[in-house]
Amino acid sequence: MSQLLVVGTVATDDIETPYGKEAGVLGGSATYFAAGASFFTGVRVVGVVGDDFRLERLDFLKDRGVDLAGIEVVPGGKTFRWAGRYHHDLNHRDTLGTWLNVLETFQPDLPDAWKDTPYLFLANIDPVLQRQVLEQMKRPKLVVMDTMNFWIESVRKELIETIARVDALVLNDEEARQLSGEPNLVRAAQKIQALGPKTLIVKKGEHGALLFGEGRQFFAPAYPLEDVRDPTGAGDTFAGGFYGYLAKQGKVDAETMRRAVLYGSALASFCVERFGPDRLRELKMSEVDERVKAFHDLVRVDPL
Ligand code: AMP
Repeated sequence: MSQLLVVGTVATDDIETPYGKEAGVLGGSATYFAAGASFFTGVRVVGVVGDDFRLERLDFLKDRGVDLAGIEVVPGGKTFRWAGRYHHDLNHRDTLGTWLNVLETFQPDLPDAWKDTPYLFLANIDPVLQRQVLEQMKRPKLVVMDTMNFWIESVRKELIETIARVDALVLNDEEARQLSGEPNLVRAAQKIQALGPKTLIVKKGEHGALLFGEGRQFFAPAYPLEDVRDPTGAGDTFAGGFYGYLAKQGKVDAETMRRAVLYGSALASFCVERFGPDRLRELKMSEVDERVKAFHDLVRVDPL
C-alpha cells in the first residue's frame, strides 16, 4: 500500500453551530485528514498531545490502518484546543479561541523509517513545524500543504517560506484572498502560484472547490445535502480524500487530480452530517463509492 505522512494538529474542540453546542469534541487538522485519507492509503500521523488526551479517541483511525506512532504525548502538557462558532450561514465561522498549549514547544522528530514516505501532507499547523517535518524527509514525490487565517495573520513571513517549498496548496476562498491581498479569486490564485506551488485548490465551503493547475481550471460543487450539522473538519477531510486518492493512484496528472477533487468532496460531504468526526467513524467505503457516483451524476453533461 502506498503511504502518506501527515503532520498537523490533534485537538480538542468546542463547537457551536445553529444545530447545537458541544464541548470537548475530538478535532484537529491531522485527525480529520487521516480519517479522509485512510479510505485510500496507509497514513502515518506526526503530531503532539498532552497527557489530558485519551489516545483511545483515535482508535477508529487505528482500526482503519492509520499509524499513530508519530504522536508524541507530553507529560503534564495540555492538548491544543480550538473553539469556534458557526453562523446561520454555515460558510462563516468565528474562532472564539485558539490555545496552542503543547504545540508551543513541539519539536517534531520523525521515526527514521518514516523519512522516505513518498507522499507528504503538511496539514494546518504552525508553518515552522511544517518546514521542520519537510526538512527531515528524503525527497517526497509530492508535498501538499494547508493553512489557516490564524497563521496568515500571525506568522506570514514563515508561512510564505514554507509555501515556496510545496507542490500544491489547499486553502479556502477567504484565506486565498487574505494571503494574496487580492479580492478576485482567479488573480489571487495566480499570485499564490507565483509564490511556489504549481497547483492550488480553493475550497468554497458549500459552494464546492476550484482547482487551479498549470494553465487549467476545474470546478466541482459541494454535494447538496439536506442535513448539515457541523462543518468543522470538512476542509481537512476534503484534503484527506483528495490526497489519499492521488496517493492510491500513484499519479498526479490533470485527470487524476479532477477525480481526486470528487473523492475529496464526497468525503467532506459525510463529515458535515454529524458533529465532529462522528460520521467518519462509521463510514464505509461502499457509501463513499456510492456518493462519488451520485456526485459524478450531479455534474455530468453529454459531450457538447
Ligand atoms: P477545518 O474546519 O477543516 O478548517 O478544520 C477544523 C479543525 O482545525 C478543528 O478540528 C481544529 O482543531 C483545527 N484548528 C483550528 N485552528 C487551528 C490552527 N490555528 N492550527 C491548526 N489546527 C487548527
